[in-house]
Amino acid sequence: MTPPTVAVVGGGQLARMMAGPATALGLHLRVLAEGPDVSAAQAVPDAPVGVPADVDAVLALVEGAQVLTFEHEHVPAPVLDAVAARGVPVHPTPAALVHAQDKAVMRRRLTELGVPCPRWAPVADLADLERFRDAAGGRAVVKTTRGGYDGKGVRVVGDGPVPADVVAWCAAAADGSGPALLAEELVPFTRELAVLVARTPSGRSTVWPVVESVQRDGVCAEVVAPAPDLDPATAAEAERVARTVADGLGVTGVLAVELFEVPGPDGAAPRVLVNELAMRPHNSGHWTIDGAVTSQFEQHLRAVLDLPLGDVAPVARWTVMANVLGSTLDDLTDALPAVLGADPGARVHLYGKAVRPGRKLGHVNVSGDDLEDVRARARAAAAVLRGERPGDGGTA
Ligand code: ADP
Repeated sequence: MTPPTVAVVGGGQLARMMAGPATALGLHLRVLAEGPDVSAAQAVPDAPVGVPADVDAVLALVEGAQVLTFEHEHVPAPVLDAVAARGVPVHPTPAALVHAQDKAVMRRRLTELGVPCPRWAPVADLADLERFRDAAGGRAVVKTTRGGYDGKGVRVVGDGPVPADVVAWCAAAADGSGPALLAEELVPFTRELAVLVARTPSGRSTVWPVVESVQRDGVCAEVVAPAPDLDPATAAEAERVARTVADGLGVTGVLAVELFEVPGPDGAAPRVLVNELAMRPHNSGHWTIDGAVTSQFEQHLRAVLDLPLGDVAPVARWTVMANVLGSTLDDLTDALPAVLGADPGARVHLYGKAVRPGRKLGHVNVSGDDLEDVRARARAAAAVLRGERPGDGGTA
């Protein structure tokens, strides 16, 4: 018996969380791991060690596989082309993936598709940035077009002198020694939303309910599903935007569309602007593991294999996901007796990663009918995993 093999580039928690659904569906998962003990390698027996830029390592990974997919976007295009040349399907395809790899390519294409985005422009040097900022009302957000994650390639520039690190980014972009840059207007958003869609190569798609994603220091801290008090017209618009992007870019697998909610004109329903895209399971969809009939990880596997997609209905009125970002514990499993004992309804997910300040080490999902109760319980459980004693406060 040879079950279908899904090859995944990346051995982090996103690949790890594909292991459960792959097992349930009888699929064979093979992950390209950064080291022998990384998060996914602890859960997936077939986890060769290698780097995504090593074409031989990736070709060995896809040997006998039905499909190659990813848990991060940082795979060089020539490597993907080499895989495609071997006849192994790559999902998302390189042509779609580039929109999650390069923010300037993404902005240009979304603008062509008529998808609402913040005002933006490419930035070739410091003078370009200063011109954009002045035209945008004295403030701007500057971003590296490639390589950023968790806010690491994002800086706000106010109306004073441009900060030294941004000056250095501009110099590196101008002489080609660093990534290209773009500038965006500083969007006066009321909150951040996210919408996840899964799409198959044959063009079928499903969309989970729109969620609110709460960021702290550029990192997702909490997700509330569905987004509370979301105007139905805004929800419909967010869903339309997600489907337009998925169809327009030909995305296959899970696509996360991160959105800014901004006030509508003259009391109209709030509008959404696209912030960025991820073409893989995403932190804003971790709630689906316990809060939806089909999780984003299972749906991603189904989608890249062009299998029928699962039901995305929520299983409870509310689900709150609280991330565990850093901990004072050396080993989070030490807190299992306390966290599981305090709340039998809390669904704990640990990633097996070494503790570092602010690092994503796990998350907790809690579902129920009362949002305040669900949120408080998710925060309390995450706090215990961060090493705080129960009753210490429990604010995420
Ligand atoms: P990354 O790719 O590192 O996740 P993002 O583009 O998502 O970076 O930006 C990180 C955070 O910075 C966003 O979640 C948002 O809070 C803030 N941000 C990004 N772009 C803008 C913008 N144009 N206006 C206001 N805030 C922004």
